[in-house]
Amino acid sequence: MAEIELLPKAELHLHLEGSIHPSVFLELSQKYQTGYDSHTTGEVSQKLFQYENFPDFLATYKVVCEHLREPADYLRILDWLAGYFVRENIWYAEIIYSPAIPWNFGRDGKQILVSLLEKSRKIQSSQGTIIRWILDCVRQYGSESARQTAELGHEFREQGVVGLGLGGDELSLEMKEYQEVFNWAKAHQLFIHVHAGEIGDPQQIWEAVRLLGANRIGHGIQAARDPDLMSYLRDHAIGLDICLTSNLKTGAWTPISENPFGLLYRRGVPVTLNTDDPGLFQVSLSEELQKAVQFFDLEEADVQRILLQGVHSSFLPYQEKMALMKRFQEEFNRLSLSPDDA
Ligand SMILES: [Zn+2]
Repeated sequence: MAEIELLPKAELHLHLEGSIHPSVFLELSQKYQTGYDSHTTGEVSQKLFQYENFPDFLATYKVVCEHLREPADYLRILDWLAGYFVRENIWYAEIIYSPAIPWNFGRDGKQILVSLLEKSRKIQSSQGTIIRWILDCVRQYGSESARQTAELGHEFREQGVVGLGLGGDELSLEMKEYQEVFNWAKAHQLFIHVHAGEIGDPQQIWEAVRLLGANRIGHGIQAARDPDLMSYLRDHAIGLDICLTSNLKTGAWTPISENPFGLLYRRGVPVTLNTDDPGLFQVSLSEELQKAVQFFDLEEADVQRILLQGVHSSFLPYQEKMALMKRFQEEFNRLSLSPDDA
């Protein structure tokens, strides 16, 4: 098998806030004197960025968000991600940003988005990584905040925003609270991305599809408990963003060897592999793929199929998707033809 690091990749499930590296977190803590200054990077990794359970993870997420106060703080994370994309050979990324978080602190979520879009265009022209954005509504914040997020997404649809998402606490407000906003967004040409079936039951995924018109599901591992749902997702080409290490570290599904990924893949459900939060979980996309190979006995052809699925399940326009899949295939061919080290 060609080395995983060398293969071209797409990453579809990547929260900007959760991409904060421990060293960037410490920089911001020093900047705002939030009391973590005395910690080392190792201590942040070993203590703060470790989670007892899902609520504990959400609590850390909140601590991180309290350190993101102006566009420069968000740009610092995007800077780190630009390097990560090069190291991981990620050619296409959909990054999730929640403007409702700065709004909740009384900050300018739109100005942050404008800075992020400008910076992501620069990254694309300097290193070639194609970056698109999903604006995420925070489930516990309610429909008014979601409406503002949808309108912001619509305003910047031509500048790199491709989708409206629903994230946050799956067990908080009901999905139907968001039906009107998401139907509006879909009618206004935004793709729909919904976190569902991570810790909630398969019904959450049904509702994401039926009520919100989800084009893709964040996580969705609980679909493995419902054969009809698996068939539906397969037949309607609704992808699941699977995040093995995230599931392990939040306790959503342990151990990795028993993650439903293997079953979902064998049933033909369109699955991709993702880190979710490479900073908070300290995992790279290559490591995720490596774990999948190890625990689910994947062959080279399976790895290539999953990587191509990453482009196929993306929110790129059809023509661009086909062109990028062709480039991936050419690169796979090139890598498999190049002789191994003699
Ligand atoms: Zn997520």
